[in-house]
Amino acid sequence: MSVSPAEALERLKAGNLRFQNNEPHTYVRVLEDFDVDPQSQDPFAAVLTCSDSRVVCEMLFDTGIGDLFVARLAGNIASPEALGSLEFAVNALGVNLILVLGHENCGAIKAAMSGESYAGHLEEVIGVIRPAVVGAPDYHAAILANIRQSIEVISRAPLLAARLASGSLAVSGGYYDLDSGSVRFLD
Ligand SMILES: [Zn+2]
Repeated sequence: MSVSPAEALERLKAGNLRFQNNEPHTYVRVLEDFDVDPQSQDPFAAVLTCSDSRVVCEMLFDTGIGDLFVARLAGNIASPEALGSLEFAVNALGVNLILVLGHENCGAIKAAMSGESYAGHLEEVIGVIRPAVVGAPDYHAAILANIRQSIEVISRAPLLAARLASGSLAVSGGYYDLDSGSVRFLD
């Protein structure tokens, strides 16, 4: 079932409000709660978010199994692998909304702001974030700038361009506040 970008965004907003208000509709914890079609999937939105253990999309948007196609990488970076995953969600699964979700106290952003270099593959992750946070006046602004950088990278993906230009696909940003559980959607 195709869900328009605006409708998908409304579903995410409404789900996050239920979560904030401690009124979730969805509760899936044990095997008998699982209700999946093993042959296919039909998510209504894709989310690129951080690997941070406190950012659990299905809970904070009060969605069920099969509702969200989630790519998680430290710092919610739009790496080539993340882009490929999102292209699959859009072009193969018919998802019409991509949300880039950053969050409060993101360690990857703090690392990128520190000026330090890191060992191993972590340096590759932090290196993607660094250009976004240069010049950001503070931590919060850096987190927002990194969300916007990922949105820009996604928006330039050739396999998404036509859908974006026609308006049948949208890319939005969100900031998850760990204290309140609220997601603030960016313009
Ligand atoms: Zn993070």
